[in-house]
Amino acid sequence: MMTAEPAELLNGRTFAIISHPDAGKTTLTEKLLLFGGAIREAGAVKARRAQQHARSDWMAIEQERGISVTSTVLQFQYDGFRVNLLDTPGHQDFSEDTYRTLMAADSVVMVLDGAKGVEEQTLKLYQVCHRRAMPVVTFVNKLDREARSPWEILEDIEQKLGMRTYPMNWPVGMGAIFRGLYDRTEGVFELFDREARQFRRLPLDEAGLTEDESAALEEDLLLLTEAGESWDEAAFQRGELTAVYFGSAMANFGVETFLRGFLRLAPGPRPRPVEQGWVDPTAENFSGFVFKIQANMNPNHRDRVAFIRVCSGVFDRNLEVFHRQSGRRLRLSAPQQFLAQDRNIVDRAYPGDIIGVHDPGIFHIGDTVTTEPRWEFIGFPRFSPEHFAEVELQYTLKHKQYQRGLDQLVQEGVLQRFRPDDQGPQVYLGVVGPLQFEVFQYRMHHEYGVDVRLRSLPYRIARWVLAEPSRWEFGRFDRVKLVRDDLGRPVLLLEDERHLERVLERHPGLKVTDSAPLS
Ligand code: GDP
Repeated sequence: MMTAEPAELLNGRTFAIISHPDAGKTTLTEKLLLFGGAIREAGAVKARRAQQHARSDWMAIEQERGISVTSTVLQFQYDGFRVNLLDTPGHQDFSEDTYRTLMAADSVVMVLDGAKGVEEQTLKLYQVCHRRAMPVVTFVNKLDREARSPWEILEDIEQKLGMRTYPMNWPVGMGAIFRGLYDRTEGVFELFDREARQFRRLPLDEAGLTEDESAALEEDLLLLTEAGESWDEAAFQRGELTAVYFGSAMANFGVETFLRGFLRLAPGPRPRPVEQGWVDPTAENFSGFVFKIQANMNPNHRDRVAFIRVCSGVFDRNLEVFHRQSGRRLRLSAPQQFLAQDRNIVDRAYPGDIIGVHDPGIFHIGDTVTTEPRWEFIGFPRFSPEHFAEVELQYTLKHKQYQRGLDQLVQEGVLQRFRPDDQGPQVYLGVVGPLQFEVFQYRMHHEYGVDVRLRSLPYRIARWVLAEPSRWEFGRFDRVKLVRDDLGRPVLLLEDERHLERVLERHPGLKVTDSAPLS
């Protein structure tokens, strides 16, 4: 067994950015990569995205695959940390993959638009993080424009997300009258020099603020100390309190201070649960789990890549591992690691890192690979789909290919399959984002030579039944569809939250959950 420097086992910082579209995730990512020296010019990430969306739909999906190869994880070094920024696709591409990626992160950065506060998609992504008690650091963006008052933003976070807030810095002015940011941890002022477009860190009394500005800041700081939260490290680590930074990704207000602060706050690789207990990153045995599978990234050959998050030990190229679910020993061949621009073959990877390995068709989401055969990571949820369709084969002659393709893509996690509880012949498919349907049809056509029709269904919610009702409990007026998932577990399909509430009221014994274990 290789021994690694303990530092390398613990200095990985693996996080994802969650946000609503247009809040500034791409811009912030780019700035972080610039500070990390991973890209040389601003615009690199954005240019690729723009290119991608300019294409036609089918091309976009292809292109999407191409792009998410390189941007599945962006790795750079900063301040002695090995930073792994997991890329979660933007809104058009919102899918179950987005949720799964969060499973591979140890913490998240939540980007809010300072003029809008907490928006819908942020809320959805936050809920996934919250369930896992992940630490959240907030970046309130776009302070170079007129935004809501910092107090309103804090209030919004507390009300909508139920998370307490601790501002790490505090803005003086915003938009055209933005003067700078007071750094509460170091007690210095970051003065924005409008002409030089630069910041200078100064003691507050040398910052040259007007009397009014000073007075307002003093009042705010006093209020924060008296009425605000005090820093509570344990609550932060449990995701009950968020550290809040104000700034502007585009204008570069407070971004580097944020990055430095975030890396100090963010946890290193967190222990992960197995049946027997917890696997610590410093454990001698290598272990990791598959959180994403991507097919056909190279159009010339039908390869599949499984993305593995390293949880413990050291990964060395060609390491022989045990694949828990198939019971096979295998050598992880051609592992790739993902730097901001290229795929590289890796020799070594440490806890928190992501490696991409060739998938001979045996991996599923949530699978464990390890040198300790007894370990099996647990706790990967199936996420509740929000769009449903009934699938039909166009030409019944191709039934075999259809079945194979469907089985394979369901297994890969492209979408979820349900069957009617009364054992009818229908097959229902569920997805988190509609793009998954497109990917499904496209891949069925191109990889299995099968054309499928999708008839969309009026449901928007799926709930796994924990306490099973007897079938006749549901009357015609309930308008509930009772189906079974691939593991035979009962699931209710419902129209919306109100519908769900009504059904729960009418059937007091019924207990449901919106995410179920993968196996
Ligand atoms: P994403 O959808 O969250 O990735 O958002 P983008 O990073 O693509 O940003 C959305 C839009 O907001 C773009 O037009 C950006 O130029 C703009 N933007 C991002 N950050 C800032 C900022 O700090 N200030 C201002 N004024 N605009 C910003």
